Amino acid sequence: MRAIHLFGAGDVRVVDAPDPALRRPTDAVVRVVRSCICGSDLHPFHNAERDEAGHPIGHEFVGVVEEVGSEVATVRPGDFVIAPFVVSCGVCEFCRAGLQTSCVRGGWWGDTEGSGSSGGQGEAVLVPLADGTLVPVPGITADTDERMLASLLTLSDVYGTGWHAALTGGVSQGSTVTVIGDGAVGLLAVLAARQQGAERIVLMGRHATRTDLGRDFGATDVVAARGEEGIEAVRDLTDGGSQVVLECVGMMPAYEQALGVVRPGGTISRVGVPQYTDGPVGRVLFSRNVTLTGGVAPTRAYIDELLPGVLDGSVDPGRVFDTVLPLEQGPEGYAAMDERRALKVMLRP
Ligand SMILES: [Zn+2]
Ligand SMILES: [Zn+2]
Repeated sequence: MRAIHLFGAGDVRVVDAPDPALRRPTDAVVRVVRSCICGSDLHPFHNAERDEAGHPIGHEFVGVVEEVGSEVATVRPGDFVIAPFVVSCGVCEFCRAGLQTSCVRGGWWGDTEGSGSSGGQGEAVLVPLADGTLVPVPGITADTDERMLASLLTLSDVYGTGWHAALTGGVSQGSTVTVIGDGAVGLLAVLAARQQGAERIVLMGRHATRTDLGRDFGATDVVAARGEEGIEAVRDLTDGGSQVVLECVGMMPAYEQALGVVRPGGTISRVGVPQYTDGPVGRVLFSRNVTLTGGVAPTRAYIDELLPGVLDGSVDPGRVFDTVLPLEQGPEGYAAMDERRALKVMLRP
């Protein structure tokens, strides 16, 4: 099959890779219908060590089950499925608690040396623990219109991650929320905050086409300024600070921005993968009783709840995909996202 592999910083290529084959009775093989590039894929794209052999990349995909192992009970060949961005067993303590990202048997996509799973950015994927991991969607096929496929694909990561931000941030009816970041997760955090009852949603972002989409998703105000100027603008708009702040970037300046705009007694939820190891967590939080929460989103836990709105068209999270490319042009997709020419790139095998 054809698949995107990462060979080092700035070097992704479409290569011939082995066809996935069942290894355990709990595995499935899924033929990918659509996959995509994540903002978090750009971190290894920037920093990865040189790897002459290359390794698979990609963790967001939807597809059709091709083959299942003898112990797989919840999906059958021919089923359309959503794959969340982590593998999970569905039965351990953490899976039952809705924290599938901490599954004791779970793992990541592209774990060729462990579970044998392949990456999401390919023509097919070996899925370990298929019963726990995959969510079948009746009535959808590979030929369903692309707009619906795009929205279903957001349930793999970005919509569920935005939802996790709003949920752990404690958004409730009438909340005032500030969302930091106009990437796909930030925009879908706006949508999620709106769905969870937020009344005032301030979106901090600099790209007008993205923040316009944020307004469509429910943002009531947009602040393009950053740093002290941005913080002042948000504090003015929110009468001294925002009760809930959703930090959807993962870089230190975004976290500092969150600290600047949060109201005393408020909550900061972070869902961008932190690109820092240390940071201000001492008196700056303590003296103002600020809660720091969020983390890697167990999107598997949210699919059942979010799927009906996608299927009936009441939400259209797939609008975050502004670019669709054939898998063979995957490297161009990485370049486009890296250079901010594309918000989010969907790949068609
Ligand atoms: Zn992702
Ligand atoms: Zn588990």
